[in-house]
Amino acid sequence: MAIVDTEERYAGAFDTVKCPVCGSDEWTHLVYQGVFCATCNTRCTLREPSGDQGFIAEFDSQYTWSIEEAEPIPETDEYGALASGKWLGTESRGYDRYWFSAYEDHVDGHESEWEPVWDRETVTPEAD
Ligand SMILES: [Zn+2]
Repeated sequence: MAIVDTEERYAGAFDTVKCPVCGSDEWTHLVYQGVFCATCNTRCTLREPSGDQGFIAEFDSQYTWSIEEAEPIPETDEYGALASGKWLGTESRGYDRYWFSAYEDHVDGHESEWEPVWDRETVTPEAD
């Protein structure tokens, strides 16, 4: 797996992406294992979107620690506990989030109640 290459290619990505589970923007890079949220350990994998500038980030809650701030991504039989989103842009211009959803939303007949941290109504107050 070329995860290390991917990280270098999207060097600015992890300055942009917040953890959808707990809202942290600090990421820990573990060589050969991937990139994990420094707060709740949700794993983040970056991919190249076809035909667009930017990146696709996929988040996996199978690694998420149970901590107070974290609302783990719901698990599905088919996909596991995944959510993904697409950010458009470049490192120099900056990235904008284009879409984001939990895989659970794509399972037939299932309405996901999980929201990424930025869409939750109760915003955790920022500690100064
Ligand atoms: Zn997190």
